[in-house]
Amino acid sequence: FQVPKPINEPVKGYAPGSPERAELVQELNRLKQTQQDIPMHIGGQEVRTGRTISLHPPHDHQRTLGHFHEGDAAHVTQAIEAALAARTAWAELPWQERAAIFLKAAELLAGPYRARINAATMLGQSKNAFQAEIDAACELIDFFRFNVHFMQEIYRMQPESAPGMWNRLEHRPLEGFVFALTPFNFTSIAANLPAAVALMGNVVVWKPAHPQIYSAQVLMELFAEAGVPAGVINLIYVDGPVAGDVIFKHRDFAGIHFTGSTKVFQTIWQEIGQNIANYKSYPRIVGETGGKDFILAHPSAHAKAVATGIVRGAFEYQGQKCSAASRVYLPSNLADEILGYVKQDLATVKMGDVEDFTNFVNAVITEASFDKLARYIDGAKNDPDADIVAGGGYDKSKGYFVEPTVILAKTPKYVTMCDELFGPVVTVYVYDEKEFETTLDLVDSTSPYALTGAIFSQDRYAIDLATKRLVNAAGNFYINDKPTGAVVGQQPFGGARASGTNDKAGSALNLQRWVSPRAIKETF
Ligand code: GLU
Repeated sequence: FQVPKPINEPVKGYAPGSPERAELVQELNRLKQTQQDIPMHIGGQEVRTGRTISLHPPHDHQRTLGHFHEGDAAHVTQAIEAALAARTAWAELPWQERAAIFLKAAELLAGPYRARINAATMLGQSKNAFQAEIDAACELIDFFRFNVHFMQEIYRMQPESAPGMWNRLEHRPLEGFVFALTPFNFTSIAANLPAAVALMGNVVVWKPAHPQIYSAQVLMELFAEAGVPAGVINLIYVDGPVAGDVIFKHRDFAGIHFTGSTKVFQTIWQEIGQNIANYKSYPRIVGETGGKDFILAHPSAHAKAVATGIVRGAFEYQGQKCSAASRVYLPSNLADEILGYVKQDLATVKMGDVEDFTNFVNAVITEASFDKLARYIDGAKNDPDADIVAGGGYDKSKGYFVEPTVILAKTPKYVTMCDELFGPVVTVYVYDEKEFETTLDLVDSTSPYALTGAIFSQDRYAIDLATKRLVNAAGNFYINDKPTGAVVGQQPFGGARASGTNDKAGSALNLQRWVSPRAIKETF
């Protein structure tokens, strides 16, 4: 059998009057009618504890979307047991059947679930329709389809056989369960972390970030309708340290698939280290953590292209992509022109509710995030080493709104050039146009992270030099493009240094981490 190589899911435009917009608006209105009661999902059962926590749209925190039921340590144990009970049957299922289930999930998502997942992502995570479409619909459909294709490539990797024998590699699922700990900022990543692992024949305990629970419940329905058997993916809402304490001490813990903060990932790694002698196998540790992603413009750059790269790279989804541009290096000959274009663009950008489709910027995810951003913005307002050249306003009376803000730093290691803010704030440093080479060293040494970065230049020599000197500064490197928006199958995504284990999402490299091959030699 061979599964045909997929193409990327076309992005819908949601133009006024389009059928997709009508359907989405209808779904948003439907969701307004009811507050949802959101259970955990363990072993195919809905689990309600009666201890509920409410969910609110970040752009309208007085409105309640629903309540989820919080579990405790006993639920974590239950989820692990349900996963282990489902393991053998799932692992022994022919891979074509697992492929068919996830290909069906892709079709359901492209069709009947598209408006549902986009609407839930818009309301729960404050993403506008276009950002929801490229994430919760297109990227996730791509993950499902391309992962099946990559799985097949992995299974095809087979050794040579001398005459009189047949050598083969059996790409076994891991012996145990995998923990998926997932972020709020991409519904596609939150779904793919458990789904990619499950596709390879593994069973999963999945704990999402709170703001993503509203869309996670739609995904559980999708998985069930596509045919993922009970117990293969178990969704729990349990406090992090409580869940970790059960999971990382469990003998059958076989791996973690993580996207989140560097600090949490390091704590988890330490905990795994402390328990290492207790596990049946060495666990797989796969994680994508933070970023402090750069845009570097060479004196030969196209000013307007750089400005567009900054506005889109730094402010789409309020800068809450790990890949978002957050430090920018502009040459002195172009800085005024580029910043002029940025200000012109930002003057036309609207901020507000996700239900008004003309809003480019929506709310940041939580009050804690809002407060942190406000602190840094105030810091810049009061610091002689920084100027605010655009934005700088914030207001949390209705939702957690922070204006797209551009800080001009007078020193290259000003605090917002270094700290990860995870919001719509970008910091620009203007370098002497004759100092491009030393600026490359500055870009490389300013941050411990190395996720994404972009060089804008019309000069091939400068592009080559930057590509070489910044070899370890980014796992995804863009030439004359913004540093966000990696497409599954086209730009495998991930970074090294403090940004993660770089097991590229959206490629066979990632899926390979979720199997443990057995080499079989048979002689005749
Ligand atoms: N893959 C996304 C992009 O390229 C970013 C993923 C993330 O924020 O973790 O923009």
